Amino acid sequence: MSENLIAATYPGMRKDDLIVITGAGGFIGGSLTRYFHNQGFTRLRAVDKKPLAMWYQVFEDVENLILDLSQETNTVRATEGAVEVYNLAADMGGMGYIERYRVECMRSILINTHMLEASYKAGVKRYFFSSSACAYNIDLQQDPNVRALKESDAYPANAERGYGWEKLMSEIFCQEYHAERGLGTHIARFHNVYGPHGTWDGGREKAPAALCRKVIEAKDKGTPQIEIWGDGTRTRSFMYIDDCTYGIDMIMHCDKLTATPINLGTSELVTVNELVDIIEAIGGVKLQRMYKLDAPKGVGGRNSDNTFIKSTLHWEPSKPLREGLKTTYDWIEEQYFARKAGKHTVQD
Ligand code: NAD
Repeated sequence: MSENLIAATYPGMRKDDLIVITGAGGFIGGSLTRYFHNQGFTRLRAVDKKPLAMWYQVFEDVENLILDLSQETNTVRATEGAVEVYNLAADMGGMGYIERYRVECMRSILINTHMLEASYKAGVKRYFFSSSACAYNIDLQQDPNVRALKESDAYPANAERGYGWEKLMSEIFCQEYHAERGLGTHIARFHNVYGPHGTWDGGREKAPAALCRKVIEAKDKGTPQIEIWGDGTRTRSFMYIDDCTYGIDMIMHCDKLTATPINLGTSELVTVNELVDIIEAIGGVKLQRMYKLDAPKGVGGRNSDNTFIKSTLHWEPSKPLREGLKTTYDWIEEQYFARKAGKHTVQD
């Protein structure tokens, strides 16, 4: 642990300051709500457009609002009285989703545009935007033996079609709201995040959750095979959710990082095949790999260069992939068997 400031230690921040978290029915937003709840913040407002029954995590003593934040009037309601706003709402998913639904992904720009304006008018002190490594120039990510991406690699711009361009444009909005109007904006470029209480089925899930589910299903059904998207050689890094929530808090409360995009990810690069190896070992099974070469697979390789975060926060995400995947696998297994037993899970 570093000596960085977080919400609980930030000078002048009170435990009853209103913290607003959008996308709180989803994976990271829900986990961030839990994180602040555990820290003893007493006025949390969680906002999402999904019905409450579909939220991944719900806390009774939190103000839970169902609002579509692509509508301007709803963002005014969402930000009323807020001291800090964490905007995690976006229409997103794994490669299967963002390659197929580029228009939906781009329309998330409405959320951030209205949230920024509403936050500014509401006198919010700090505003957090969840950007993505998909904002980086894709020309630099063709080779699986990729050079890790540093913050300046977003320019000259050639982001991932749809989703990546939305993130880059929204980053610029955040930067200009600071430059021109003085809003304290903070921007993190997340690299793949995984962990319990995330999407694990239904088409929006990312590789770690999808592969855990497939191994669990193969074991349960006694089928000896696993389908893998691509040829298994593409590389990525994966950050555990607890590193993500802690990193968000530190980035938000570091004044040096105002309006300055920063990587939030691990630099532990693995191939998809290595990811499968780890998950098979957790499940105690070895499956025959069926490579689906025409499936959506994204760039050849992507890793996080953590030089900047280490020099500013003296910290970087560090949960070993094997440990984080074990917790994730166990949670997905629980969900899988709960569903099989006819119980309602949040993704039904
Ligand atoms: P998620 O899909 O689990 O959560 C996003 C939530 O936003 C969903 O619950 C959804 O209902 C809500 N939402 C969508 N449109 C909305 C609207 N118009 N109004 C209100 N709510 C709306 O995704 P996540 O993994 O928790 O991602 C959170 C943020 O982090 C997103 O901005 C995403 O782009 C970013 N991000 C995530 C990852 C990752 O690996 N999970 C990587 C890079 C960036």
